Amino acid sequence: MPKIAIIGAGLSGLAAAFQLAETEAEVVLFEKSKGFSGRAASRTKNGCRYDYGANYFKVNCNDVAALLFRDLPTEGLCRIMGDVWTFTADGTIEPGDPKLNAGAKWSYKGGISSLGKLLVEVGNLQVTRETTITKLEYEDGSWTLIDEKLNSHSGFEAVLLTPPAPQTIALLNESEIDEDLVAHLTGELAQSRYHSQFCVALNLAGTVTLPGNAYALINSDREHAVAWLSHENQKAEHVPAGETLLIAQMAPAWTQDHYHDPQEDIIAAAREAVKKLLPTELPPLQWADTQRWRYAHPYSAASLEAMKPGAELGLFFAGDAFIGKGRIPRAIETGFAAGKHLRQYLAIG
Ligand SMILES: Cc1cc2nc3c(=O)[nH]c(=O)nc-3n(C[C@H](O)[C@H](O)[C@H](O)COP(=O)(O)OP(=O)(O)OC[C@H]3O[C@@H](n4cnc5c(N)ncnc54)[C@H](O)[C@@H]3O)c2cc1C
Repeated sequence: MPKIAIIGAGLSGLAAAFQLAETEAEVVLFEKSKGFSGRAASRTKNGCRYDYGANYFKVNCNDVAALLFRDLPTEGLCRIMGDVWTFTADGTIEPGDPKLNAGAKWSYKGGISSLGKLLVEVGNLQVTRETTITKLEYEDGSWTLIDEKLNSHSGFEAVLLTPPAPQTIALLNESEIDEDLVAHLTGELAQSRYHSQFCVALNLAGTVTLPGNAYALINSDREHAVAWLSHENQKAEHVPAGETLLIAQMAPAWTQDHYHDPQEDIIAAAREAVKKLLPTELPPLQWADTQRWRYAHPYSAASLEAMKPGAELGLFFAGDAFIGKGRIPRAIETGFAAGKHLRQYLAIG
Protein backbone atom coordinates (compact mmCIF):
# COMPACT_ATOMS: atom_id res chain seq x y z
CA MET A 1 0.00 0.00 0.00
CA PRO A 2 1.62 3.35 -1.00
CA LYS A 3 2.19 5.79 1.86
CA ILE A 4 1.80 9.54 1.44
CA ALA A 5 2.82 12.20 3.99
CA ILE A 6 1.10 15.59 3.96
CA ILE A 7 2.73 18.39 5.93
CA GLY A 8 0.09 20.82 7.20
CA ALA A 9 -3.55 20.18 8.14
CA GLY A 10 -4.73 23.54 6.80
CA LEU A 11 -7.46 23.46 4.17
CA SER A 12 -5.16 22.73 1.22
CA GLY A 13 -3.56 19.74 2.95
CA LEU A 14 -6.90 18.47 4.25
CA ALA A 15 -8.53 18.85 0.82
CA ALA A 16 -5.73 16.78 -0.73
CA ALA A 17 -6.09 14.09 1.95
CA PHE A 18 -9.88 14.11 1.59
CA GLN A 19 -9.55 13.49 -2.11
CA LEU A 20 -7.08 10.65 -1.53
CA ALA A 21 -9.20 9.07 1.22
CA GLU A 22 -11.05 6.79 -1.18
CA THR A 23 -7.82 5.40 -2.71
CA GLU A 24 -5.80 2.46 -1.41
CA ALA A 25 -3.00 4.80 -0.27
CA GLU A 26 -2.27 5.33 3.42
CA VAL A 27 -2.25 9.10 3.97
CA VAL A 28 -0.80 10.66 7.12
CA LEU A 29 -1.07 14.39 7.81
CA PHE A 30 1.46 16.07 10.13
CA GLU A 31 0.30 19.28 11.80
CA LYS A 32 2.36 21.46 14.10
CA SER A 33 -0.57 22.93 16.03
CA LYS A 34 -3.26 21.33 18.21
CA GLY A 35 -6.15 21.97 15.85
CA PHE A 36 -7.04 21.52 12.20
CA SER A 37 -7.84 24.07 9.53
CA GLY A 38 -4.71 26.29 9.68
CA ARG A 39 -5.41 29.95 9.04
CA ALA A 40 -9.15 29.23 8.73
CA ALA A 41 -9.04 29.53 12.51
CA SER A 42 -11.66 29.97 15.27
CA ARG A 43 -11.60 30.33 19.03
CA THR A 44 -14.20 30.08 21.79
CA LYS A 45 -13.91 32.43 24.74
CA ASN A 46 -16.38 33.65 27.39
CA GLY A 47 -19.32 32.18 25.47
CA CYS A 48 -18.29 33.76 22.14
CA ARG A 49 -17.04 32.02 19.05
CA TYR A 50 -14.99 34.03 16.60
CA ASP A 51 -12.98 33.61 13.43
CA TYR A 52 -9.59 35.18 14.02
CA GLY A 53 -7.92 34.18 10.73
CA ALA A 54 -10.01 33.95 7.58
CA ASN A 55 -13.30 35.69 8.31
CA TYR A 56 -15.55 34.16 5.66
CA PHE A 57 -15.39 32.31 2.37
CA LYS A 58 -17.23 32.41 -0.90
CA VAL A 59 -17.89 29.39 -3.05
CA ASN A 60 -17.05 30.24 -6.61
CA CYS A 61 -16.05 26.98 -8.27
CA ASN A 62 -17.81 23.66 -8.80
CA ASP A 63 -15.31 21.44 -6.97
CA VAL A 64 -15.52 23.50 -3.79
CA ALA A 65 -19.34 23.76 -4.07
CA ALA A 66 -19.56 19.96 -4.34
CA LEU A 67 -17.32 19.57 -1.32
CA LEU A 68 -19.26 22.00 0.85
CA PHE A 69 -22.82 21.32 -0.20
CA ARG A 70 -22.67 17.63 -1.26
CA ASP A 71 -19.81 15.84 0.50
CA LEU A 72 -19.87 17.57 3.89
CA PRO A 73 -22.85 18.10 6.23
CA THR A 74 -24.43 21.52 5.71
CA GLU A 75 -26.34 22.00 9.01
CA GLY A 76 -23.47 23.89 10.60
CA LEU A 77 -23.00 26.39 7.76
CA CYS A 78 -24.04 29.96 8.43
CA ARG A 79 -24.61 32.52 5.73
CA ILE A 80 -23.60 36.10 6.42
CA MET A 81 -26.31 38.40 5.10
CA GLY A 82 -24.67 41.83 5.43
CA ASP A 83 -22.37 43.39 2.82
CA VAL A 84 -18.75 44.44 2.90
CA TRP A 85 -18.57 48.25 2.88
CA THR A 86 -15.44 50.38 2.38
CA PHE A 87 -13.70 53.13 4.34
CA THR A 88 -10.79 55.44 3.63
CA ALA A 89 -8.05 56.86 5.84
CA ASP A 90 -10.08 60.05 6.40
CA GLY A 91 -12.94 57.94 7.83
CA THR A 92 -15.37 58.11 4.88
CA ILE A 93 -17.57 55.00 4.96
CA GLU A 94 -19.44 53.92 1.84
CA PRO A 95 -21.35 50.90 0.49
CA GLY A 96 -18.97 48.49 -1.23
CA ASP A 97 -18.88 47.60 -4.91
CA PRO A 98 -22.07 45.58 -5.66
CA LYS A 99 -20.04 43.29 -7.95
CA LEU A 100 -17.66 42.40 -5.14
CA ASN A 101 -20.61 41.89 -2.80
CA ALA A 102 -22.34 39.49 -5.19
CA GLY A 103 -22.36 35.85 -4.08
CA ALA A 104 -23.05 34.33 -0.68
CA LYS A 105 -20.56 34.68 2.16
CA TRP A 106 -20.17 31.73 4.52
CA SER A 107 -18.75 30.66 7.83
CA TYR A 108 -19.88 27.94 10.25
CA LYS A 109 -21.95 28.32 13.40
CA GLY A 110 -19.16 26.48 15.21
CA GLY A 111 -16.57 28.81 13.66
CA ILE A 112 -14.81 28.71 10.30
CA SER A 113 -12.41 26.01 11.56
CA SER A 114 -15.41 23.62 11.49
CA LEU A 115 -14.58 23.20 7.82
CA GLY A 116 -11.24 21.57 8.67
CA LYS A 117 -12.83 19.49 11.43
CA LEU A 118 -15.53 18.22 9.06
CA LEU A 119 -12.96 17.22 6.45
CA VAL A 120 -11.13 15.18 9.11
CA GLU A 121 -14.32 13.57 10.44
CA VAL A 122 -16.07 12.79 7.17
CA GLY A 123 -12.88 11.74 5.39
CA ASN A 124 -11.74 9.75 8.44
CA LEU A 125 -8.35 11.39 8.00
CA GLN A 126 -5.28 10.43 10.01
CA VAL A 127 -3.67 13.55 11.50
CA THR A 128 -0.58 13.47 13.71
CA ARG A 129 -1.00 16.73 15.63
CA GLU A 130 1.44 18.89 17.58
CA THR A 131 4.21 17.57 15.37
CA THR A 132 6.39 20.05 13.51
CA ILE A 133 8.33 18.51 10.66
CA THR A 134 11.79 20.05 10.59
CA LYS A 135 13.64 17.93 8.02
CA LEU A 136 13.05 15.61 5.06
CA GLU A 137 15.38 12.85 3.92
CA TYR A 138 15.19 11.06 0.61
CA GLU A 139 16.92 7.76 -0.04
CA ASP A 140 16.27 4.94 -2.53
CA GLY A 141 12.84 6.20 -3.50
CA SER A 142 11.63 6.59 0.06
CA TRP A 143 11.00 9.66 2.20
CA THR A 144 11.63 10.03 5.93
CA LEU A 145 10.25 12.97 7.91
CA ILE A 146 12.01 14.12 11.06
CA ASP A 147 10.07 16.13 13.61
CA GLU A 148 11.27 18.70 16.16
CA LYS A 149 11.56 15.99 18.84
CA LEU A 150 13.84 14.08 16.45
CA ASN A 151 11.32 11.29 15.87
CA SER A 152 11.53 9.73 12.39
CA HIS A 153 8.45 8.97 10.33
CA SER A 154 9.58 6.79 7.45
CA GLY A 155 8.49 4.76 4.44
CA PHE A 156 6.65 7.42 2.42
CA GLU A 157 6.66 7.25 -1.35
CA ALA A 158 5.45 10.82 -1.73
CA VAL A 159 5.31 14.00 0.35
CA LEU A 160 2.98 16.97 -0.08
CA LEU A 161 4.12 20.27 1.44
CA THR A 162 1.45 22.88 2.22
CA PRO A 163 2.82 25.47 4.72
CA PRO A 164 3.21 29.14 3.76
CA ALA A 165 6.18 29.50 1.38
CA PRO A 166 8.73 30.89 3.91
CA GLN A 167 8.12 27.90 6.21
CA THR A 168 8.46 25.44 3.34
CA ILE A 169 11.71 27.14 2.30
CA ALA A 170 13.10 26.74 5.84
CA LEU A 171 12.13 23.06 5.86
CA LEU A 172 13.68 22.34 2.46
CA ASN A 173 16.89 24.12 3.44
CA GLU A 174 17.27 21.77 6.42
CA SER A 175 16.54 18.67 4.34
CA GLU A 176 18.79 16.03 2.84
CA ILE A 177 17.76 16.26 -0.78
CA ASP A 178 19.76 17.00 -3.91
CA GLU A 179 21.19 20.51 -3.41
CA ASP A 180 20.43 21.73 -6.93
CA LEU A 181 16.83 20.62 -6.59
CA VAL A 182 16.50 22.42 -3.23
CA ALA A 183 18.02 25.57 -4.74
CA HIS A 184 15.56 25.44 -7.62
CA LEU A 185 12.48 24.81 -5.44
CA THR A 186 13.33 27.36 -2.77
CA GLY A 187 14.19 29.93 -5.46
CA GLU A 188 10.70 29.55 -6.89
CA LEU A 189 9.00 29.50 -3.47
CA ALA A 190 10.74 32.78 -2.63
CA GLN A 191 8.53 34.39 -5.30
CA SER A 192 5.66 34.05 -2.84
CA ARG A 193 5.86 36.76 -0.20
CA TYR A 194 3.58 37.16 2.77
CA HIS A 195 2.21 40.06 4.81
CA SER A 196 2.12 39.81 8.59
CA GLN A 197 -1.10 40.82 10.30
CA PHE A 198 -2.44 41.35 13.80
CA CYS A 199 -6.01 40.29 14.38
CA VAL A 200 -7.73 41.81 17.41
CA ALA A 201 -11.06 40.58 18.82
CA LEU A 202 -12.90 43.27 20.84
CA ASN A 203 -15.81 42.18 23.03
CA LEU A 204 -18.05 45.09 24.01
CA ALA A 205 -20.67 45.20 26.75
CA GLY A 206 -23.57 46.35 24.59
CA THR A 207 -24.87 46.42 21.06
CA VAL A 208 -23.04 48.11 18.20
CA THR A 209 -24.10 47.89 14.57
CA LEU A 210 -21.99 48.80 11.56
CA PRO A 211 -23.33 51.44 9.15
CA GLY A 212 -26.15 50.51 6.73
CA ASN A 213 -26.32 46.79 6.03
CA ALA A 214 -22.57 46.33 6.54
CA TYR A 215 -21.23 43.13 8.07
CA ALA A 216 -17.69 44.34 7.53
CA LEU A 217 -15.73 47.42 6.52
CA ILE A 218 -12.61 47.16 4.39
CA ASN A 219 -10.04 49.92 4.01
CA SER A 220 -9.99 50.77 0.31
CA ASP A 221 -7.02 53.19 0.22
CA ARG A 222 -4.81 50.99 2.46
CA GLU A 223 -3.76 54.02 4.49
CA HIS A 224 -5.64 53.30 7.71
CA ALA A 225 -4.22 51.40 10.70
CA VAL A 226 -7.17 49.02 10.40
CA ALA A 227 -7.45 46.96 7.21
CA TRP A 228 -10.71 45.14 8.04
CA LEU A 229 -13.39 45.45 10.69
CA SER A 230 -16.21 42.92 10.97
CA HIS A 231 -19.08 41.98 13.15
CA GLU A 232 -19.07 38.40 14.46
CA ASN A 233 -22.68 38.97 15.66
CA GLN A 234 -23.81 38.49 12.05
CA LYS A 235 -22.71 34.84 12.19
CA ALA A 236 -25.34 32.60 13.78
CA GLU A 237 -24.43 31.31 17.24
CA HIS A 238 -21.16 33.26 17.51
CA VAL A 239 -22.05 35.98 20.02
CA PRO A 240 -24.63 36.00 22.87
CA ALA A 241 -27.38 38.66 22.72
CA GLY A 242 -26.61 41.98 24.38
CA GLU A 243 -22.89 42.05 23.58
CA THR A 244 -20.82 42.76 20.46
CA LEU A 245 -17.75 41.09 19.09
CA LEU A 246 -15.76 43.05 16.54
CA ILE A 247 -12.81 41.65 14.63
CA ALA A 248 -10.20 44.25 13.68
CA GLN A 249 -7.50 43.07 11.32
CA MET A 250 -4.71 45.62 11.48
CA ALA A 251 -3.01 46.80 8.26
CA PRO A 252 0.18 44.95 7.25
CA ALA A 253 2.24 48.19 7.46
CA TRP A 254 0.85 48.97 10.92
CA THR A 255 1.52 45.36 11.98
CA GLN A 256 5.11 45.59 10.84
CA ASP A 257 5.65 48.81 12.83
CA HIS A 258 4.10 47.29 16.00
CA TYR A 259 5.14 43.65 15.56
CA HIS A 260 6.88 43.39 18.94
CA ASP A 261 4.59 45.69 20.95
CA PRO A 262 2.97 44.20 24.08
CA GLN A 263 -0.51 42.74 23.68
CA GLU A 264 -2.20 45.45 25.78
CA ASP A 265 -0.79 48.17 23.50
CA ILE A 266 -2.06 46.37 20.41
CA ILE A 267 -5.53 46.06 21.95
CA ALA A 268 -5.59 49.72 23.06
CA ALA A 269 -4.49 50.92 19.61
CA ALA A 270 -7.05 48.74 17.81
CA ARG A 271 -9.84 49.93 20.13
CA GLU A 272 -8.89 53.58 19.64
CA ALA A 273 -8.75 53.22 15.83
CA VAL A 274 -12.15 51.47 15.77
CA LYS A 275 -13.67 54.11 18.08
CA LYS A 276 -12.55 56.88 15.73
CA LEU A 277 -13.74 55.04 12.65
CA LEU A 278 -17.29 54.16 13.73
CA PRO A 279 -19.90 56.91 13.86
CA THR A 280 -21.46 55.46 17.05
CA GLU A 281 -20.39 55.41 20.71
CA LEU A 282 -18.52 52.24 21.63
CA PRO A 283 -19.78 50.44 24.77
CA PRO A 284 -17.13 49.50 27.35
CA LEU A 285 -14.62 46.83 26.43
CA GLN A 286 -15.29 43.58 28.37
CA TRP A 287 -12.37 41.58 27.06
CA ALA A 288 -10.10 41.33 24.03
CA ASP A 289 -7.88 38.81 22.34
CA THR A 290 -5.09 39.07 19.76
CA GLN A 291 -3.39 36.87 17.22
CA ARG A 292 -0.17 37.79 15.46
CA TRP A 293 -0.06 36.07 12.09
CA ARG A 294 3.49 36.09 10.87
CA TYR A 295 2.46 34.71 7.48
CA ALA A 296 -1.11 35.93 7.06
CA HIS A 297 -1.67 36.50 3.35
CA PRO A 298 0.58 36.02 0.34
CA TYR A 299 0.74 39.06 -1.94
CA SER A 300 2.70 37.34 -4.71
CA ALA A 301 2.65 33.80 -6.03
CA ALA A 302 5.12 31.03 -6.77
CA SER A 303 4.42 28.90 -9.84
CA LEU A 304 3.25 25.30 -9.34
CA GLU A 305 4.48 24.55 -12.83
CA ALA A 306 8.02 25.49 -11.76
CA MET A 307 7.82 23.03 -8.83
CA LYS A 308 7.49 20.05 -11.21
CA PRO A 309 11.11 18.81 -10.82
CA GLY A 310 10.17 17.92 -7.22
CA ALA A 311 7.48 15.55 -8.52
CA GLU A 312 10.16 13.37 -10.13
CA LEU A 313 11.11 12.31 -6.59
CA GLY A 314 7.54 12.33 -5.26
CA LEU A 315 7.66 15.82 -3.75
CA PHE A 316 4.48 17.85 -4.29
CA PHE A 317 3.23 21.29 -3.22
CA ALA A 318 -0.08 23.03 -2.49
CA GLY A 319 -1.43 26.01 -0.55
CA ASP A 320 -2.00 29.70 -1.05
CA ALA A 321 1.70 30.32 -1.83
CA PHE A 322 0.68 29.34 -5.37
CA ILE A 323 -2.28 31.71 -5.51
CA GLY A 324 -0.67 34.93 -4.35
CA LYS A 325 -3.78 35.84 -2.32
CA GLY A 326 -5.28 34.49 0.90
CA ARG A 327 -8.39 32.68 -0.31
CA ILE A 328 -9.91 29.56 1.19
CA PRO A 329 -11.62 28.13 -1.93
CA ARG A 330 -8.51 28.59 -4.00
CA ALA A 331 -6.31 27.00 -1.34
CA ILE A 332 -8.72 24.03 -1.38
CA GLU A 333 -8.41 23.85 -5.16
CA THR A 334 -4.61 23.62 -4.92
CA GLY A 335 -5.11 20.71 -2.50
CA PHE A 336 -7.47 18.96 -4.91
CA ALA A 337 -5.00 19.46 -7.76
CA ALA A 338 -2.18 18.01 -5.65
CA GLY A 339 -4.39 15.02 -4.75
CA LYS A 340 -4.95 14.40 -8.45
CA HIS A 341 -1.22 14.60 -9.24
CA LEU A 342 -0.42 12.23 -6.36
CA ARG A 343 -2.92 9.70 -7.73
CA GLN A 344 -1.27 9.87 -11.14
CA TYR A 345 2.24 9.65 -9.70
CA LEU A 346 1.44 6.59 -7.59
CA ALA A 347 -0.98 5.16 -10.18
CA ILE A 348 -3.68 4.75 -7.54
CA GLY A 349 -7.39 4.99 -8.25
C1 LIG B 1 -6.06 37.33 9.25
C2 LIG B 1 -6.44 36.54 8.03
C3 LIG B 1 -7.61 36.85 7.33
C4 LIG B 1 -8.00 36.11 6.22
N1 LIG B 1 -9.21 36.37 5.61
C5 LIG B 1 -9.66 35.54 4.65
C6 LIG B 1 -11.02 35.64 4.21
O1 LIG B 1 -11.82 36.41 4.73
N2 LIG B 1 -11.43 34.79 3.21
C7 LIG B 1 -10.60 33.84 2.66
O2 LIG B 1 -11.03 33.10 1.78
N3 LIG B 1 -9.32 33.71 3.11
C8 LIG B 1 -8.84 34.52 4.09
N4 LIG B 1 -7.58 34.34 4.60
C9 LIG B 1 -6.66 33.42 3.94
C10 LIG B 1 -6.96 31.94 4.22
O3 LIG B 1 -7.05 31.72 5.61
C11 LIG B 1 -5.80 31.12 3.64
O4 LIG B 1 -5.58 31.46 2.27
C12 LIG B 1 -6.05 29.61 3.70
O5 LIG B 1 -6.59 29.23 4.94
C13 LIG B 1 -4.70 28.95 3.43
O6 LIG B 1 -4.78 27.54 3.59
P1 LIG B 1 -3.45 26.68 3.39
O7 LIG B 1 -3.82 25.26 3.57
O8 LIG B 1 -2.78 27.10 2.12
O9 LIG B 1 -2.44 27.17 4.54
P2 LIG B 1 -2.57 27.08 6.13
O10 LIG B 1 -3.96 27.26 6.56
O11 LIG B 1 -1.53 28.01 6.68
O12 LIG B 1 -2.15 25.57 6.44
C14 LIG B 1 -0.81 25.17 6.56
C15 LIG B 1 -0.69 24.32 7.82
O13 LIG B 1 0.64 23.84 7.91
C16 LIG B 1 1.01 23.80 9.28
N5 LIG B 1 2.47 23.76 9.30
C17 LIG B 1 3.33 24.74 8.91
N6 LIG B 1 4.60 24.31 9.00
C18 LIG B 1 4.54 23.03 9.45
C19 LIG B 1 5.52 22.05 9.76
N7 LIG B 1 6.83 22.29 9.58
N8 LIG B 1 5.12 20.85 10.23
C20 LIG B 1 3.81 20.57 10.41
N9 LIG B 1 2.82 21.48 10.13
C21 LIG B 1 3.19 22.67 9.65
C22 LIG B 1 0.38 25.06 9.86
O14 LIG B 1 0.23 24.98 11.27
C23 LIG B 1 -0.96 25.10 9.11
O15 LIG B 1 -1.98 24.44 9.84
C24 LIG B 1 -7.17 35.05 5.74
C25 LIG B 1 -6.01 34.72 6.44
C26 LIG B 1 -5.65 35.45 7.60
C27 LIG B 1 -4.43 35.03 8.37
